[in-house]
Amino acid sequence: MDKGIATVVKHTGSHYLLSVLPEWAPFPAVIRGKLRLAGSKATNPVAVGDRVEFEDGTITKILPRKNYVIRRSTNLSRESHIIAANLDRVFLIVTIILPETKLAFVDRFLVTCEAYGIRPVILINKVDLYTEPVLQEQLADFKALYRGAGYEVLEISARRGTGISAVRAICREGLTLFSGASGVGKSSLLKALDPTLDPKIGEISLSHLQGKHTTTFYEMHPLTGGGFVIDTPGIRGFGLVDIEPEELSTYFPEMLRVMDNCRFKPCTHTHEPGCAVKEALETGTISPERYSSYLGMLEEEKKYR
Ligand code: GDP
Ligand code: ZN
Repeated sequence: MDKGIATVVKHTGSHYLLSVLPEWAPFPAVIRGKLRLAGSKATNPVAVGDRVEFEDGTITKILPRKNYVIRRSTNLSRESHIIAANLDRVFLIVTIILPETKLAFVDRFLVTCEAYGIRPVILINKVDLYTEPVLQEQLADFKALYRGAGYEVLEISARRGTGISAVRAICREGLTLFSGASGVGKSSLLKALDPTLDPKIGEISLSHLQGKHTTTFYEMHPLTGGGFVIDTPGIRGFGLVDIEPEELSTYFPEMLRVMDNCRFKPCTHTHEPGCAVKEALETGTISPERYSSYLGMLEEEKKYR
């Protein structure tokens, strides 16, 4: 095909693989120089999941994005990197132990999803390990915390196959980003979902185009059960890019639900009298853990300004 609209399924250095989804037949493409310069603060102008117009192996236009996930290149950097675009959902894979997933990490991640209009689904993996009563209790607390905030939370074991068919059913529609700290079981889950999945897909068709020093960024895989997934290797956290302190609380669904009743608008929900968020905190509708994450992020956002 020499002209049309396709989706970016892989990005390696300056080279791309496109496919006319839902058909899976990746072909290489390069980007027009002008497009590359037109990029904003992002270090990459085109991301996996982008719908693009192409002609004769060249990407000529990026179509408007429904959403995207971004992170700061480094914690203090103003530069940012687009991880993926046009997502239908993001899986945040977490574990209670081995490794322990910190609540601050989870909350920061969820805020990013809310800010960019992507539905997060929390998958608690390795439930086969949580047999001790104290771990069972931590699991129950974690679940209650995030379900209480309004999130979908599933318990799974990639190793035992627990909950995998439910995950597969969710993935069947559209594009899912897999995310979580390294070691939580992202690759194991992908394998459990689709044993035929070849993580090296696309490697061969690109190899003749590129030099020795290539960094593999992100890539999309088709699932035999339907749907497409993107794995994000080694993502540790997402920076809060372009979030104003005043809008931060709107990205906490449980705060958003009550903040209309705050006496002052805008309200930072810290010192203002008649604050509905603080009231909800007192009655237990809003959890102290989530509120403290909110305060932490608020401080951090102020620091970077
Ligand atoms: P990734 O870094 O997120 O891709 O994690 P991996 O899939 O490589 O898994 C990290 C380690 O956790 C490996 O030793 C896996 O065998 C193990 N693991 C993954 N899923 C499970 C699970 O459901 N239960 C247990 N007990 N171990 C798991
Ligand atoms: Zn308030």
